[in-house]
Amino acid sequence: MADKYDVVVIGAGPAGYVCAIRAAQLGLKTVCIEKWRDKSGKGVNGGTCLNVGCIPSKALLDSSHKYWELSHSIQDHGIVPKDVELDVSAMIKRKDKIVKQLTGGIAGLFKANKVTSLFGTGKLLADRKVEYKDNDGNVSVIEADNVVIASGSQPIDIPVAPIDGEVILDSSGGLDLEEVPGRLGVIGAGVIGLELGSVWRRLGSEVILLEAMEDFLAIMDQQVARETHKIMKKQGLDIRLGCRVTGSKIKGRGKSKKVEVSYQTSDGKEATETFDKLIVCVGRRPFTEGLLAPDCGVDLDERGSIFVNEHCATNAPGVWAVGDVVRGPMLAHKGSEEGVMVAERIVGQKTQVNYDIIPNVIYTHPEVASVGLNEEQVKQSGEPYKVGVFPFVASGRALAADDSDGMVKLIAHEKTDRILGCHIVGPSAADLVQQVAIAMEFGSTAEDLGMIVFGHPTLSEAVHEAALAANGHAIHIPNKTKR
Ligand code: FAD
Ligand code: AMP
Repeated sequence: MADKYDVVVIGAGPAGYVCAIRAAQLGLKTVCIEKWRDKSGKGVNGGTCLNVGCIPSKALLDSSHKYWELSHSIQDHGIVPKDVELDVSAMIKRKDKIVKQLTGGIAGLFKANKVTSLFGTGKLLADRKVEYKDNDGNVSVIEADNVVIASGSQPIDIPVAPIDGEVILDSSGGLDLEEVPGRLGVIGAGVIGLELGSVWRRLGSEVILLEAMEDFLAIMDQQVARETHKIMKKQGLDIRLGCRVTGSKIKGRGKSKKVEVSYQTSDGKEATETFDKLIVCVGRRPFTEGLLAPDCGVDLDERGSIFVNEHCATNAPGVWAVGDVVRGPMLAHKGSEEGVMVAERIVGQKTQVNYDIIPNVIYTHPEVASVGLNEEQVKQSGEPYKVGVFPFVASGRALAADDSDGMVKLIAHEKTDRILGCHIVGPSAADLVQQVAIAMEFGSTAEDLGMIVFGHPTLSEAVHEAALAANGHAIHIPNKTKR
């Protein structure tokens, strides 16, 4: 006989496992099915984020940053390190240990919240039934009042550079290199390309990023993007804009295998570069392979995402979808909030996700973070606006830390003074932008933020000063506008 649950969640990434936990907290009998297996073949929760995404990339970014500081800038503090050595395999092992700790943590949370955790593959059938195939191939059917699809995304592969897992890698391969490549090519200078490029650059690779777009970080605030570009160049990242990769050829064998990449520049010229390794980071696509029976009633949109309304309900009654597999930015926290919203809506609450206030971060050093509208978007809306900018070079805390590249840019409505967006490149930008996200959620004006007492000396003072600057009241820089 089929098992019956209140909620079946397919996928235990940050969208799915959070949804399952919240549903169980609300008293719903919940099961979560996950097909991911670790290197030893054992089922493991956590999805892309914990296994090959947010967490392992940040582990390597932090390790490589420490190495870069030791080999480049620590001398300025009067510390002269001797015989600094790099042990890549220990670095990768540390990363794997963190991943294991966190994925194991989800198992603990499932247990504590009484979520049934199953390893294997789920497939949505008609009428809210889910076919479950365990990792030994046994098939059963689970019935549920609600099904939540949280099957995530996977890297886009491009035929001009097919992944061979040896020389041409996707982002997961780029997190698992056993030695530092002499010459590393990265296709795509987006979020993931910049993060992975930074890791290996700091560890000693010559890194060339080939980016098809003419504008650097085209969807970001362009003033902050320009500043970021300057900083990345200073760090030795060779970012070539307007360069579309058109082909790749593997050359040599065994250890001396390399890849020759051909690309076209925006003025139509053909060029080639040869790399020891190539990481393809051209974005991610929703993952729905083998997931949907033809009569399950769920529709896809033109991008292949599961079609949902603003509350993540699909076209099939009682079937929801959350996270990377649906529209919106592919970010872990966006999926988690959707997971919470769906669990709470299942029990009749009116929870919503505020899609206008979702922070977005690139974890390079310094970090690049934004929330709300950028200047280009505000300009396009036609609304009058004002801008306050505060450079970290004027921050005592940033100077003390020898970390003063970048700036905070805050945009507010010219008339209402309401904060419309904030864009930061600088130390701890991810945490700083979160302060503005909170202010925006409470409907804060730039003046409100300027009236809050900030501790001294903190990096947060740069946010305070940018808010003051929007109204011409900054203290620690000359004001462009007097109001
Ligand atoms: P996923 O995490 O992809 O999880 C989906 C799960 O569903 C997977 O475990 C999959 O095995 C499972 N699944 C799929 N189909 C089935 C099925 N039929 N049956 C059973 N299980 C199934 N985001 C951030 O917010 N911050 C970051 O710093 C960040 N860094 C990143 C760095 C890298 C290198 C990468 C690749 C991504 C990064 N992301 C980051 C993006 C983030 O990882 C994703 O947005 C997030 O993981 C999406 O969560 P999800 O739960 O929707 O999907
Ligand atoms: P993101 O979506 O942030 O992961 O960034 C992916 C980047 O890859 C985008 O900026 C794309 O313009 C870029 N890209 C996609 N295809 C190619 C290609 N063939 N050559 C170079 N860059 C590409």
